[in-house]
Amino acid sequence: MTSTLYTGIGELVTNDPARGDGSALGLTRDAAVVVDGDRVAWIGAAAAAPEADTRVDVGGRCVLPGFVDSHSHVVFAGDRAEEFAARAAGQPYAAGGIRTTVAAVRAATDEELLATGRRLLAEMRRQGTGTVEIKSGYGLSVEDERRCLEVAAQLTDEVTFLGAHVVPPEFADEPDSYVALVTGPMLDVCAPLARWIDVFVEDGAFDADAARAILEAGRARGLEARVHANQLGPGPGVQVACEQGAASADHCTHLTDADVAALVDSGTVATLVPGADFSTRSPVYPDGRRLIDAGATVALATDCNPGTSYTTSMPFVIALAVRECGLTPSEAVWAATAGGAAALRRDDVGRIVEGAPAALTVLDAPTHLHLAYRPGVPLAAPLTADDGRSA
Ligand SMILES: [Zn+2]
Repeated sequence: MTSTLYTGIGELVTNDPARGDGSALGLTRDAAVVVDGDRVAWIGAAAAAPEADTRVDVGGRCVLPGFVDSHSHVVFAGDRAEEFAARAAGQPYAAGGIRTTVAAVRAATDEELLATGRRLLAEMRRQGTGTVEIKSGYGLSVEDERRCLEVAAQLTDEVTFLGAHVVPPEFADEPDSYVALVTGPMLDVCAPLARWIDVFVEDGAFDADAARAILEAGRARGLEARVHANQLGPGPGVQVACEQGAASADHCTHLTDADVAALVDSGTVATLVPGADFSTRSPVYPDGRRLIDAGATVALATDCNPGTSYTTSMPFVIALAVRECGLTPSEAVWAATAGGAAALRRDDVGRIVEGAPAALTVLDAPTHLHLAYRPGVPLAAPLTADDGRSA
């Protein structure tokens, strides 16, 4: 193993409040980091840095933890550009568009699904993402959900079984039978392939009773819960997520005061995916300010999927969260890193600490503030030994 000293870091975002300026971001100026193999070995002031095999001067740029994208659907086939264009021309979004992608996935080979997932994962990494969660949910048969989970497992450790995305067309007249399939034979096949179980709680998808049955069955098989909640209107999703001990309630665009209180009391992370509100032309964005002021933990994710949020860009999501969800630039960067880690119940990612995996991101900018200040500019990239300015 070789060690690399990254020095000349103008601003280091550690997300360790014990470091630097004592803020949640643990900002350290004029910093250095030593990476040994694939682990962070040392963090501190550039002037005090130890020797290493290789020395890379990043020229005053900002280094931060790789983004943690805790909500994606990148195992799919086809695209839905026409549907997006129709929305842009004034058509509203309803949950049923998912079935278009289900038909494409069922017709695709495993190799095609894997190639799409790899392409999108590479896009994510190029834009500074270090950790990605991937859901199934476009197969919706025992065999197709199994295929999607096996493909996802080739791309990440954070695999989520979302057999309860929508009721597939062949069960349209008997949705209860589909819930029985998801909680029975489909779960038997899928539970060993996933860490998480998820359910889309929405009119046109699953109601509270079905969601409880699905999450309880998953938990009995060792899966941890997460929920698609309160995306298109007020509803029971957040309450079900909190009562079921879910790691995260995702979307949270339409919340009552009781929903906010439940998130605060339960510790369930509120994961905002404003790329979806953007793509669906939602009349409102999630009120991140209200959640943070109440004491909830907020995360940001892309929700990358072909129907309602076809972006892989965490910097885009950060900029949207600042403009539309009321987060400060610093809160948005925390939510996209440490917040995402909390939503995945991980303490080894989303921060830069000694001993943790070295998934570091460098910005072509002096401070993390530029992520929201310069929207649409490709500032973020993975930090590598080729990043020296003086070479
Ligand atoms: Zn989603």
